[in-house]
Amino acid sequence: MAMCNGYVARARLVLAGKIGRNLLRSEAAHHEDGNRINDAPDNLELMTRGEHTRLHNLSGQARRAAESRWIKQRAALSIPGVRAVSKLIGLNR
Ligand SMILES: [Zn+2]
Repeated sequence: MAMCNGYVARARLVLAGKIGRNLLRSEAAHHEDGNRINDAPDNLELMTRGEHTRLHNLSGQARRAAESRWIKQRAALSIPGVRAVSKLIGLNR
């Protein structure tokens, strides 16, 4: 999970603890409240880098709408969090 300078972003470490595995290079930790120094586990969501980039390329209201849809979709699928998804697709230890 280390970056090219050898450091690991704290958010990625915290999220790894939350989901029970290291993040892949293709994955990103998104801060739900938009505060990049709030690395509380409940504030971090696992996304693919593509999803994360698309989300951050949206501005203001469009981004809030996309985040809201994301949360509703997850709730509608009865998926409580990424740990369950990871387990479903066999990525959990
Ligand atoms: Zn983000």
